[in-house]
Amino acid sequence: MDVEEFRVKGKEMVDYICQYLTNIESQMVNPDVEPGYLRRLLPSEAPQDPEEWDNIMHDVDKKIMPGITHWQHPRFNAFFPSGNSFPSILGDMLSDAIGCIGFSWQASPACTELETIVMDWFGKAIGLPNDFLTSSKGSKGGGGVLQSSASECVLVSMLAARNQAIHQYLKKENPLMEDSAFLPKLIGYCSKEAHSCVEKAAKILLVKLRILEPDENGSLRGETLRAAMEEDKAKGLMPFFVSAILGSTSSCSFDNLEEIGPICKEEPYCWLHVDAAYAGNAFICPELKYLLKGIEYVDSFNTNPNKWLLVNFDCSCLWVRERIRLTHALVVNPLYLQHANADEAIDYRHWGIPLSRRFRSLKLWFVIRKYGLSGLRSYIRNHIKLAKHFEKLVNLDSRFEVCNNVRLGLVCFRLVGTDNATKKLLELINASGQLFVTPAVVRNKYIIRFCVNAEHAKQTDVDYAWEIIKEQAKEVLEEITT
Ligand code: PLP
Repeated sequence: MDVEEFRVKGKEMVDYICQYLTNIESQMVNPDVEPGYLRRLLPSEAPQDPEEWDNIMHDVDKKIMPGITHWQHPRFNAFFPSGNSFPSILGDMLSDAIGCIGFSWQASPACTELETIVMDWFGKAIGLPNDFLTSSKGSKGGGGVLQSSASECVLVSMLAARNQAIHQYLKKENPLMEDSAFLPKLIGYCSKEAHSCVEKAAKILLVKLRILEPDENGSLRGETLRAAMEEDKAKGLMPFFVSAILGSTSSCSFDNLEEIGPICKEEPYCWLHVDAAYAGNAFICPELKYLLKGIEYVDSFNTNPNKWLLVNFDCSCLWVRERIRLTHALVVNPLYLQHANADEAIDYRHWGIPLSRRFRSLKLWFVIRKYGLSGLRSYIRNHIKLAKHFEKLVNLDSRFEVCNNVRLGLVCFRLVGTDNATKKLLELINASGQLFVTPAVVRNKYIIRFCVNAEHAKQTDVDYAWEIIKEQAKEVLEEITT
């Protein structure tokens, strides 16, 4: 493809995208295909010769689109939002065109510097303490970095904690022992409400993880953590990491940081991480900052603008209070990556797992500038208002119950009675193709999660979704009574 063809096909692609997003509502949310459907439609070998672009796009229309789940559909109420907006799409487009690989300052100075600046902007807007900002203490302090997922943020935080526990503490007492010999001593904690990525991180890092019972509101409490730590220390283990959750995936519950924080600080080297992948974005609203209480005890914090801040995947923000404690676990420095400005500049390759890094800050910068914090706050507030509206509809119908404290955009609900009725309801709703929702377990009961996701979600979308739910519920309940 030469530049002239790109100019034409690029404009057509923008039209295609506009058409797709404007008419998305006319599609079923879920595709009606069986596993393996695409293999039957595409050749089994790659083409030997170049193909016409229009033929490729024809296949997109006829073969790929029928297998797409439409995450931007106004009745895609599953999971959490998948951020998407025109400024963000344009940011990614430009980033792809620039095509730099910003592993070091030298590899593309603007790529590194914009990331640092935007992470400071966003960190301040959320209300993180100054320690987390690069601007606060220069190279000695903390800072923010973009990772590709919340799972990666949790993994590198746990890795930093593991490194700190071994090198700052355990190894000082036993300098001749191999690092790996200390692994059986280390134990981390999270609550049952934490995302499974914490368990995955512990699996990768070969450390024990104790999954604790939250209280009846889904909140991990100080006394539960303290009791677990005391029991484990009596067995000779060392508590080295706690991952607290603000805005859990199942029910958007919040751990009690004000209780957990001081307990972590009583331990010699226990790193407190906060995973706020979804909810953290909402803290740009002053009225929601109360949910951050206890942040002063935290060592690292992550949130995903690619969930709830209109930024396309991937864009996951991680801030650390002391960057050296993160980079110490990750620095390797071959000659071919060294440069003359390494002392005064940031090299983000030391802040995460991959060497190569996309210019991700561009789309976050575009979104923050084009919407302004005021526009982003309106977007978040609209979702919360609609979730509250949905909660009210559920509460007005005695056949249903709401199962979580609705503070943000997620409502958990179920049919009063056995889990089976709610399971059946979820099956029917999703099979209808008109609405997509996902299940979870809250307080040992099977529930349906209804999350407000679409950028321009409206009350009529929520009302329509509720009609679909009631219609399917009628069928379930009739079946039960006959
Ligand atoms: N943490 C929380 C609270 C989540 O809700 C999710 C996913 O929804 C994750 C972590 C994992 O996110 P990612 O897909 O970015 O790894």
